[in-house]
Amino acid sequence: FSASARQVRGPAGEHLGAALAYQEITDLMRAMRVKDQFVSSVSHELRTPLTTVLGYLELLSDRTDLPVDAAGQIEIAQRNTQRLLALVSDVLDVARAGAGHLVLTRTATDLTALVREAVETSAPMARRSGVSLRADAPDRLVAVVDGSRMRQVVDNLVSNAVKYSERGDAVTVSLRRVDGAIELDVADTGIGIPPDEVDLVCDPFFRGGKVVERQISGTGLGLNIVKSIVAAHGGTISLESELGRGSTFRVVVPAG
Ligand code: ADP
Repeated sequence: FSASARQVRGPAGEHLGAALAYQEITDLMRAMRVKDQFVSSVSHELRTPLTTVLGYLELLSDRTDLPVDAAGQIEIAQRNTQRLLALVSDVLDVARAGAGHLVLTRTATDLTALVREAVETSAPMARRSGVSLRADAPDRLVAVVDGSRMRQVVDNLVSNAVKYSERGDAVTVSLRRVDGAIELDVADTGIGIPPDEVDLVCDPFFRGGKVVERQISGTGLGLNIVKSIVAAHGGTISLESELGRGSTFRVVVPAG
């Protein structure tokens, strides 16, 4: 398709230029597709060697004949390799979702167990920063969802709630069934989100002004992935927040 050489004129002979614009949009779409493919294949290629490095570090850390200072050094290398692997996985997820390739594997999943696991994962961080963390969920709540993707949703929301809270704050995760849907609330009494940032928090790479200023670490990818996973389930995510008072993220997905 080469519209750029063709001039488009109106009935009175006036120049419209519409064909040129169309050509530019086609070029732009092609460039975006190439970018998505590039990001996703680079991320994929990075994962394999990183997983190998992590495996060897684990083998090393199991050895009993190490010099005294080596164990700590290996642990730092392990932690940072894990961080890098998590970042690569997140970038891959954002690229996949951007290209509409977030594939779900839905099975009957106990969401209560999933919430408990996510709370356990964030508990050490909560303890370290003096934030209380509790779950309010029925004994069992089964829904047909992609369990590992929903785990990612809960993990991200709970770890954010803890990360953006301060000593003495509280995080509450509540789960309930409402008619044919599952409602998950992750509420914190933390730093809150300014009104002009509320609509931006799910954008890829967005990080709050205060958060950057205070040098709280992060990539700005978590909520974008959460939003894509929730959308792929046919659900919605909403947010209520007051600066200095805290935030509540609500996820609603069909029970399946
Ligand atoms: P990250 O946490 O890596 O910055 P996210 O995509 O998870 O990335 O969040 C994007 C931004 O939204 C954060 O940088 C922060 O400004 C804001 N945010 C997310 N969750 C909360 C929360 N519970 N309380 C306050 N701000 C939050």
